Order: sequence, then structure tokens, then C-alpha cells
Amino acid sequence: MSEFDLIRRYFTRATPSALLGVGDDAALLQASDGNVLAVSTDMLVSGTHFLPDADPFLLGHKTLAVNLSDMAAMGATPRWATLAIALPPKDGGGADEAWLEKFSAGFFALAQQYRVELVGGDTTRGPLNLSVTIIGELLASQALRRSGAQIGDEIWVSGCLGDAALALAHLQGDIVLGKAEFAACAPRLHQPQPRVALGIALRGIATSAIDISDGLLADLGHILEASLVGAEIEFALLPVSAVLRTCLTPPSLPLSGEESCIPPDKGRLGGVELLQQCVLSGGDDYELCFTAPRSRHADLLSIAAKLDLPLTTIGKIVAGRECIVHDASGHPIKLESSGYDHFR
Ligand code: ADP
Ligand code: MG
Repeated sequence: MSEFDLIRRYFTRATPSALLGVGDDAALLQASDGNVLAVSTDMLVSGTHFLPDADPFLLGHKTLAVNLSDMAAMGATPRWATLAIALPPKDGGGADEAWLEKFSAGFFALAQQYRVELVGGDTTRGPLNLSVTIIGELLASQALRRSGAQIGDEIWVSGCLGDAALALAHLQGDIVLGKAEFAACAPRLHQPQPRVALGIALRGIATSAIDISDGLLADLGHILEASLVGAEIEFALLPVSAVLRTCLTPPSLPLSGEESCIPPDKGRLGGVELLQQCVLSGGDDYELCFTAPRSRHADLLSIAAKLDLPLTTIGKIVAGRECIVHDASGHPIKLESSGYDHFR
């Protein structure tokens, strides 16, 4: 199959909201009246962001989902995407047509859900590498920038934190989860749900926002840096799923059979430390962290109810530049690393 057959077969779908889509030297796009474009790129590299044998359908989903998450964090409505893909040769154990079929199905299933149109890209041979540029739109005044957090604002997060890191810890052999436990957290790692509707609902309410891709502390840290403020977080307030809590909280009674968890000989980290690490520094959850004035607290609770998505206040913005996390007895928690950094 030629490169152009491949593009036609797997990556060309109708693009009614583009003036010109796949097939020319560039796509032509028109933003809605008065809107500006929000543009962002996120790349997934085999061996770094996923294992070479990752399920191609889920990989197609995740490749687009991590980009939609950036639109959510900006408060933008996603509209179009381009996809640059490097495919290993077939006999190198890489992508064949069955792989492309599933990858593109996963990608377009999510694209359709958010009415995002694939308007172009690039296709080459090389180590498996997936890069999406996403284009959204919004009124410039509505953008949820990192720089707007104000002293006294409440700090919020959506959903719950740490499940993706828990699934990853299991896959890397740091802990052993029972079947049901792994099934409960694995989708958070492999099939993240971008919080697009939340981002749009936060327009005019949130003073700053970011998506959590590198861990809460690392990503909140970007807000603090851009806004020139500090934060105080209460660990006990952080939203944690039932599976994460039961897995990593030392049980008062021994758990039976299939249930959890941390083999004593695998104890790089104890239960409590691993819980803290997953929740504070675990990446890949793709929830939103945002700040808003206290006066909007009730509005945010009604948004949570309307979207059927938990929103939780975890602390407040304070003067200074530091982020302090208190444990249940009010003492600061000390952590070794604050999140994933490819260059550290
Ligand atoms: P050029 O040589 O001008 O860069 P290409 O031959 O790379 O153009 O691509 C031909 C057309 O196919 C372009 O419109 C490009 O945007 C599109 N395209 C290439 N790869 C992909 C892909 N993986 N997904 C969607 N569109 C693609
Ligand atoms: Mg090209």
C-alpha cells in the first residue's frame, strides 16, 4: 500500500467544517466570528508514553485524548486536528494494516464524540511516534490561562487523582493488584476522558486552569509560577478513588486472596508513601486543576452536578511561591519528586 493509499484509507474522513481538509498542501480553516484559535501539540512516543505492544484502539483514543485535554485546560472548543505519524516497517514488528485499522478507529471514535475533524498530517517511516496538533476556538477574553490565579482563590480538581499512576505501578511491577482492582484503574491510564465540557463550563468562572498530565504538584506548580502565588493543599481533601484508597491504605485486617496489594519484598515504597506519590505526583490522569474565587463555590457545585463530574476543593491560593501540602494532622508532607520530567 502506498503512503497515499494509507492516508486515504485510514486517515481521510469528511471535514465539513473545514474550508479545505486532507489532500492539499495545507488545510484551510475559518474560526467562528470573533473567536481566536487555540493551538496545541502533544506527541506520544513508543517506549516513553506507551509500550510498543499497546492496544492500538486505545492508543488511537489516547493520542487524541491528551490533546483534547489541552483544549479543555484552555477552555477552548476543539474543532480540528492534524496527525503526524511515524510507522515502523511491518517486519520490524511495527504497524501493519490491522494495527492502522484499530488505531484509526480509536482515534475517530473520540474525534466524532467531540466533533473534531482531522484536516491533515504527515505520514513517514520511523520508530512509532504519534503527534497531534489540535486547534480549538474561543473568545480571547474567555481563555483559561495559567497566569490568573489570585490570592484567596480556592483550588479545585475534577474527578479523582492517582488511578492512572496506580495502574502504571502495577504494570511496572512495583505493586501487584488483583484482577478487579486493575480493571478498575486501567482505563484511567489507557483511555483518559478529556474534560472538555468542564473547560467550557469554567469560562468566566475559573481564574486559571491546567490539565494534570505530569502530576498535581508539578502541574499546579505551573499555575503558581505563572500567577506569582503560592498554595496550601490539604492531603485529606484530595479526591481518591475507592480502589486507590483500599489498595494503598494499610488494612487493619489482612486482605483475603485475590485482593491487594503490595508485596513486602517489592517495598520500594510503603502503602502510604505510594498513595501520596500516586495522588500528588502521578501523571496521566488528565483531570483539570483550576482556581476560582470563593464567591463562585456554589456555581462550581452546580456545574459538577450538571456534568455529573465530581469537583473538589483541595486548598487555597496564598501569598508567596511555595506549594505546601498538609497531612491530616496539619504537618507539611515532604515529597521526593513532584512529577514526571522527561529531562530529569
Ligand atoms: P506534503 O508532501 O505536501 O507534506 P503529504 O504528501 O505529506 O503532503 O500529505 C498529503 C496530504 O495528506 C496532506 O493534506 C496531509 O495533510 C495529509 N496527511 C498526511 N498524513 C496524514 C495523516 N496521518 N492523517 C491525516 N492526514 C494526513
Ligand atoms: Mg507532508
